[in-house]
Amino acid sequence: MTKVIVYIGLGSNLSTPAEQIKDARQAIDALVGVQEVACSSLYRSPPMGPQDQPDYVNAVMAVETDLPAIEILRCLQKIELDHGRVRKDERWGARTLDLDILLYGDQLINHPDLIVPHYGLAERAFVLYPLQEIAPAIQVPSLGDISILVEHCPLDGLVRLAE
Ligand code: ATP
Ligand code: MG
Ligand code: MG
Repeated sequence: MTKVIVYIGLGSNLSTPAEQIKDARQAIDALVGVQEVACSSLYRSPPMGPQDQPDYVNAVMAVETDLPAIEILRCLQKIELDHGRVRKDERWGARTLDLDILLYGDQLINHPDLIVPHYGLAERAFVLYPLQEIAPAIQVPSLGDISILVEHCPLDGLVRLAE
């Protein structure tokens, strides 16, 4: 199988979020068959949905892989669990780690467990801005030019954190 670039969105708002993101990056780098291509700065963002939870730390990574998308999803879900992610009924509640597949090459995927591009991509500043940082010229499959997407997405309180 030929290699594809996969963009992964990382988010955390519990248990020292910036450390969670850095650890998750290392865990992704350590996956067999996955090579990191780029990683954005860390960003801080106010919570989506329920407001009675801490701000999030977010980042976006690009990796190169020949693993199928569903395999990557399973690996990411295992890393989430290893980081103490507890799945609750509440949507968008606080979590130690969320790893979402944003893009898998230029593929459109519509699987019961995996929708790609990620369905929230165009509305989420904490995804679009870090994605633009590492892929400033990318054409997002079915959505178009990243700079146009960013132009139409308010910052919503997103702040890039100093190194
Ligand atoms: P959101 O999906 O709105 O960002 P969330 O990340 O908190 O919310 P999760 O609880 O992490 O949601 O995942 C819910 C389900 O979403 C998972 O069981 C997974 O199978 C499914 N899913 C569908 N598409 C994707 C994707 N592109 N990346 C990760 N999970 C996905
Ligand atoms: Mg998510
Ligand atoms: Mg998720």
